Amino acid sequence: MKHLPKKICLSCRNFSLHEIDSGSCKVIKGLTSYPVKSVDDTCAQWLDCGQQYFIRTGWIKGRMAKEKGEKVNTETGIIWKAGQ
Ligand code: SF4
Repeated sequence: MKHLPKKICLSCRNFSLHEIDSGSCKVIKGLTSYPVKSVDDTCAQWLDCGQQYFIRTGWIKGRMAKEKGEKVNTETGIIWKAGQ
């Protein structure tokens, strides 16, 4: 069975990821600044972001590995090494 992401901001179409643990919710358009949400937050307006979820988790893994100076293979094939 295919793994389905949980209904959290990280897997929501209205979410823009900015940090490894947070981003902004753009469910209300046209604001001068969007509310900051944790990747684990959720609400009734969640919409599936599809493949974007795997791109985001890959980016998070890459960022975490880069901060630790490690090398990692992710779902999106990004490989980070210390100093890159
Ligand atoms: S707060 Fe709701 S609508 Fe906004 S990004 Fe999170 S789940 Fe999506």
